[in-house]
Amino acid sequence: MKLYRFCSGSICKLFAGGLHGDEGLYTASVLEILAEEADMAYDADIIIAPAITTGTRYISVLSEAYYHTVEGMILTGLIKRYKPRFYFELHAYSEKSYARLTNPDREKIEGVPPFVDLGNHVLIGSIAPILRDALFSTEDFCLTIELPNWELQAITEAVLEILQPGLRCRTRTELLAQLREMYPDALERAEKLFYHFYRATASELEPF
Ligand SMILES: [Zn+2]
Repeated sequence: MKLYRFCSGSICKLFAGGLHGDEGLYTASVLEILAEEADMAYDADIIIAPAITTGTRYISVLSEAYYHTVEGMILTGLIKRYKPRFYFELHAYSEKSYARLTNPDREKIEGVPPFVDLGNHVLIGSIAPILRDALFSTEDFCLTIELPNWELQAITEAVLEILQPGLRCRTRTELLAQLREMYPDALERAEKLFYHFYRATASELEPF
């Protein structure tokens, strides 16, 4: 597995793509571009894994079983080793999965909130609760981005525009402010879903 590390600060930011199945074939092309931009100019320890796997059996990251697979253990190994305060998880999905991933009833069906469409089939949402609760603190920023695999070229730039503030921003508040400015409606929806899921309010918890 290819891993980029740009070390110039104390805060760690991890960008991990391709967690299962063949998603890595799609996430790698975006994260390889990000890696070209992630030089030492940023005051952070930046780790980029463009594709943890490119061809394994698809096991959902919502299931405990995933974290016992080789790819699941590589992922948790990276998180345990680098203890990122900013964590971006990139997946890719096919057109037929769109309805399931964005289903308003997804919490009833799959136990997690639906993803929110940024308006270009790029979906954002929280990471798997099983992972968030085990390896991150409430102070950490954790975001899942789902890339539409059938129109990757069209959305690459837009995804990089979300990830670049992740490289630059020093605080979670600063990063959230930038994301809200870019996608006000989608962020508002995603934040509401986050608070609803965690039964919390904005005064108690920062989103994602
Ligand atoms: Zn996935």
